[in-house]
Amino acid sequence: MQGEQSLYRGKTLPGQPEYKLRRKKMVEELRSQGIKDERVLFAINKIPRHLFVEEAMQGIAYQLAALPLADGQSISHPLTVARMTELLELKRTERVLEIGTGSGYQTAVLAELCEKVFSVECIRSLLVQARRCLESLDYYNVLIKFGDGNEGWAEMGPYDAIIVTAGAKEYPKLLGNQLKEGGKLIIPVGDQEQEIFVQRKIGGSMQTIQRFPCKFVELVAGQKALVY
Ligand code: SAH
Repeated sequence: MQGEQSLYRGKTLPGQPEYKLRRKKMVEELRSQGIKDERVLFAINKIPRHLFVEEAMQGIAYQLAALPLADGQSISHPLTVARMTELLELKRTERVLEIGTGSGYQTAVLAELCEKVFSVECIRSLLVQARRCLESLDYYNVLIKFGDGNEGWAEMGPYDAIIVTAGAKEYPKLLGNQLKEGGKLIIPVGDQEQEIFVQRKIGGSMQTIQRFPCKFVELVAGQKALVY
């Protein structure tokens, strides 16, 4: 299964023993913090997170920490990436919508575990950088568009799962419409205090099945989102 996964998803970089070792250690830390899904751990063990951060940060790319990106954004904490991905319970057949591409790291994790990722980012420079990085790693099952994620990406929907990687002050109502019946939406919501809401679409309406505290950069609302 693992061999098959390496064959048709992003490539594994040869060499780089130092980074490989750090990645392995990070995976063990994630495991000890409660991440159980072996497929998620496999993806994290494979993906070169150091290539998704600025050069100056590469040395600390495998610490369990969120790291700064350009424009005041950040690459999510590996535990958050692992937990949110685990909650999606992907089976390799899904079309997944991601809001907030950022570095593209979470995108790569999703790309390893589902059929196709559609990702929306509102800062053009981040989008360009993420796309370049994902292409260089052969993630051909990813499409990224510039836009306001509050609106989702209706043309490509409906999706089996939707993941939002920025904190929404207000719940973006449009996203649920783009989800298939039975599909899952994971979204951080709140102002000062944020919580990740895990919702499922049941009988056409969104029902919260789990929630827990979190800390994300802001999901920018409306026109403010497209100033870059
Ligand atoms: N998963 C990313 C997280 C990046 S931080 C990673 O690990 O790298 C959140 C991202 O959401 C930022 O890149 C930010 O620009 C983007 N974002 C914020 N508001 C948005 C909006 N309304 N539409 C699309 N992207 C948005």
